[in-house]
Amino acid sequence: MGKVGLQLRATMEGVTGLRPVGEDFRWYLKMKCGSCGEISERWQYIRLMDSVPLKGGRGKASMVQKCRLCSRENSIDILSNTIKPYNAEDSETFKTIVEFECRGLEPVDFQPQAGFAAEGTESRTPFSDINLQEKDWNDYDETLKASVGIYDVTHQFVKC
Ligand SMILES: [Zn+2]
Repeated sequence: MGKVGLQLRATMEGVTGLRPVGEDFRWYLKMKCGSCGEISERWQYIRLMDSVPLKGGRGKASMVQKCRLCSRENSIDILSNTIKPYNAEDSETFKTIVEFECRGLEPVDFQPQAGFAAEGTESRTPFSDINLQEKDWNDYDETLKASVGIYDVTHQFVKC
């Protein structure tokens, strides 16, 4: 299945550099088994800090799991050097913010939650712990005396 890119699209108002923070950031995904087509019902998360060895010395992955329907062992790995911030100039366009190495499965849905950070485009005011679960986020930039926000967050997956 190879590499799959997660593209984000959002309307950025007064903020830039939207990015996941830390090794413990949780990428919430739903996965589809490439063998039988089973799609996980619940959200599963993968994190950079998790590293599981693959059988037969074929490297490691962020998560290894057995499909509950066909029992095939699948894995997905976060490619840490592909993580890119979503900036003010990316506003309203799709941009790949991370790539996953997929073996036997593919992500079919993504839910952003807590753990993002960004900063004021002009003021550089830091905003930490941005939660995008509601697909909209807003705050007030004290330096600029203006409201800032991230709106209409959507995503898509692309083959890399
Ligand atoms: Zn399966």
